Amino acid sequence: MVKDPVCEMEVDEKTAKHKAEHMGKTYYFCELGCKKNSKRTPTNK
Ligand SMILES: [Zn+2]
Repeated sequence: MVKDPVCEMEVDEKTAKHKAEHMGKTYYFCELGCKKNSKRTPTNK
């Protein structure tokens, strides 16, 4: 399990439908809204 960097919910990377790559790292999101939010929110927590 990995953490959604926007809402900090746990996401299963095997079934995650929403993901984004940034600086060679893959981020997983629980929903499309979080993925959109990540563009405004720094993901390097
Ligand atoms: Zn989320």
